[in-house]
Order: sequence, then structure tokens, then C-alpha cells
Amino acid sequence: MLKIGNHLSSSKGYLAMGKTALKLDANTFAFFTRNPRGGQAKAIDEEDVKEFLELAEAHHFEKLVAHAPYTLNPCSADAHLREFAKNTFADDLKRMEHVPGNYYNFHPGSHVKQGAEAGIEFIAGMLNEVLTPGQSTTVLLETMAGKGSEVGRNFEELRAILDRVKLQEKMGVCLDTCHVWDGGYDIVNDLEGVLEEFDRVIGLDRLCAVHLNDSMNGLGSHKDRHAKIGEGQIGLEALVRVINHPKLRHLPFILETPNDDAGYAREIALLRSRYEEVE
Ligand code: FE
Ligand code: FE
Ligand code: ZN
Repeated sequence: MLKIGNHLSSSKGYLAMGKTALKLDANTFAFFTRNPRGGQAKAIDEEDVKEFLELAEAHHFEKLVAHAPYTLNPCSADAHLREFAKNTFADDLKRMEHVPGNYYNFHPGSHVKQGAEAGIEFIAGMLNEVLTPGQSTTVLLETMAGKGSEVGRNFEELRAILDRVKLQEKMGVCLDTCHVWDGGYDIVNDLEGVLEEFDRVIGLDRLCAVHLNDSMNGLGSHKDRHAKIGEGQIGLEALVRVINHPKLRHLPFILETPNDDAGYAREIALLRSRYEEVE
């Protein structure tokens, strides 16, 4: 069965997200662990979490893909902003243990004139401070579109971060189809070649989740503007090949397309109808 869901609002808690996911015929979902702009997180409501975990078990939910606030910049030139990113990240990892065994995805950050090398060192440095041997969460680096000075604009930069992390077994990668396309990886005409490249540089065993998005812009545009499935320059057929690819079809697919609930339900139904069940 296709593991698919979309990005949900976490403002009403876990149980509300679980119920929304069921309504959309999703069996996983993504959510911001706190306000996407950062800041104070709401206290965890134990009862809400308990009811959600029961619901998730009863309905065979797959691993969730939580998302760190996108304003965190672990490789900022400003030591205070790096400290803020680290503290928020560490707090989120602690909170994630209420829903054990899921994914926590983050944008590596923007190096802003310091150079990718310096950025990579800061990002790995933060990970080495916040990851703990006892955590059950796997932290995912997201492939980025290479907008501005984003680190993670190619597979090599993600590999360089991973190489510097001590607790390797706590790390994975989330591939965003809009971002890699905008980053110059031609998943439309050469999905096979892109996956071979991913395997050679990072290793497909590190790939834990896919953000399934169409892109408003062309290959290599470095823009990062998501489009609805089939309404962008990647197109429906290429995304259908992504969800059915033998090396990807077992992964959770998260929609981050510009939609309301009805739109997400339609995209989920469409992709489910195009998923080829194999024995
Ligand atoms: Fe993201
Ligand atoms: Fe994404
Ligand atoms: Zn994006």
C-alpha cells in the first residue's frame, strides 16, 4: 500500500492531525513541531498523544515526518542564531520522543557568504551536540533547491555533512522532488540516473522519506516554488514514476503542495489510483 500523506497543521494537537489524515485517506503526515517561524512550542498534552498513538496503531499509520521550523539556521554566521537553532533542535528531539520512532526533517541552513564548507562544519557540529545515543527519532537532512546560499544544494553537500556526524545511525535523508529538480537533477527524463547518483554519493540506504511536490519552475532554476501535483514542470507522469520506482515505492511520500484539505484528498486519491500494487 502506498504510504502517503500531506503536511498538516499541528495547532490542534496530534489526535486532530491523525483524524484529518484519516479523512484525507492518508496513512502518514508531516507537521511543524512548533510554529514554523520558531519560538516557544506548546506543551505536549500527554492525553492527546496517547489517543493519537492508539488511533495510529489501529489504522496502521506509517512513520511520521516531522519538520523543523524553517527559520532555524544551524550555520548562521551569528553565534546567537546558531545557539537558538541548536536549543530548538534539541528541545524538538526531546518532544519527538513522545511519539517514538518517527522522522524529524530539517533544512540544513544558509551559509550566507561564509561558503558551503564553513556551513557544513557548523551543521555537523550542531548535530554532534544534539544527537543522543538513546533517541528513537531519525533526523533527516532535506535535499535543497539551492536558493540563495542554501547548504544541501547537491548530494555531495549532504554527504559531507553526514561524514562529519558521529551518530551516523541516527541520520537519514529526505528527498524533495521539487528541490532536486530545481537543483538540477532531471527526475523527469532520467530518474534512474538521478537515483544512481544519489546511491553513489550518499547511499540509497540513507533515503528515508520523499517530499512529493511538483515545481513551478524549470530544471536547475534554484527557485523552490512548489506546484500542485501535475500542474508544474515536473508533471504527473514523472511523479507517478517516482512513487512506483522499485527503490522508492516503500518510502513515505509527503505532499507539500499548495492545497486545502479537499485538494490534498484529491491528490492522495489520484496517486493511490496510479500506484501499482506488487506482490
Ligand atoms: Fe522542507
Ligand atoms: Fe520539502
Ligand atoms: Zn520547498
